[in-house]
Amino acid sequence: MNEFNNRKQQNGETKRLKCPSCNSTNLQYVTETETKVETSGGYSGSKGFLGYLFLGPFGLLCGNCGKSQKTTVTDEHKHFWVCSDCGCKFPALEDLELEIQKKKNALKGVGSIFVCCLILVIMGILIDYSLLKIMGIGCAIFTVILVPLLKREIKTKESEYAELEQKVKM
Ligand SMILES: [Zn+2]
Repeated sequence: MNEFNNRKQQNGETKRLKCPSCNSTNLQYVTETETKVETSGGYSGSKGFLGYLFLGPFGLLCGNCGKSQKTTVTDEHKHFWVCSDCGCKFPALEDLELEIQKKKNALKGVGSIFVCCLILVIMGILIDYSLLKIMGIGCAIFTVILVPLLKREIKTKESEYAELEQKVKM
């Protein structure tokens, strides 16, 4: 089977995959749906923080501004392969790839947060507001700690992906 056929069958049964534990090609593609319920609204920490910066302690009450309780339900689909012969279950490579991509995007996000922190510090120095300086430095340190953690996670996922790919691809 050539590459083209493999691509055409990506959402169906890709015959070029095999079970990582028994090498069987008798695989079933399954989708699991995870429902996440999130409640947002209520007291907003960020609004309260901004209010505190500009208005002092009373500004903390700003966290209650424009509050409306909202419940969001999101469905997360996860894809797996299940071996019909030995029952071995392993994640679809596409899902792993997506996870890696998400983490890479998060890493990019951390970079821009870091720039924002520096701007905060500079602003704090300019208007001589120590709270801004402390917050900015605190956040900057936090992002600096976050970067290697994210990088390590990406590396782990990538090797997990490579390992699985090697085992299941024929
Ligand atoms: Zn198997």
